[in-house]
Amino acid sequence: MDVIDGLVANNRAFADSLPAQHLDVRPSRRLAIVTCMDSRLDVFAALGLQHGEAHVLRNAGGVITDDVIRSLAVSQRRLGTREVMLIHHTDCGMQSLTDDGFRAELQEATGVAPAFAIESFSDLDADVRQSVRRVRRSPFLLHTGQVRGFVYDVDTHGLREVPVDQ
Ligand SMILES: [Zn+2]
Repeated sequence: MDVIDGLVANNRAFADSLPAQHLDVRPSRRLAIVTCMDSRLDVFAALGLQHGEAHVLRNAGGVITDDVIRSLAVSQRRLGTREVMLIHHTDCGMQSLTDDGFRAELQEATGVAPAFAIESFSDLDADVRQSVRRVRRSPFLLHTGQVRGFVYDVDTHGLREVPVDQ
């Protein structure tokens, strides 16, 4: 049995353990979270969130890409969210590569240079600040007054806020 088969079996037990319930498509806490794909960060558990309470957008690094802005625009303009919480984390995989090095690796392996930015970073706090500013400055979002950035420590499980000037 491969890994996915095991997860499908897990889901049968999960579905059987919960009563059927329809929640509103609009997150009840009116919150969107942007964070990394890292496997050690269980966003719902770490923040005490329940089903139906927040949107969670994830990619490598928790980077504010055009696609994240696309999702935030839908989240705010159609689905009612008003606050944005950005969470980077310690020991991130994106700190282990460089834009130039990874781009060259992809190009050498495939003969094609990627059209996307790699968005690696070395300074966690600086990248959090840049991400907060990208969200605040996006012309496509309705609500940019409550955008806050944090670093999650994957060893202690604690959150630390990164202050960002307007
Ligand atoms: Zn990461």
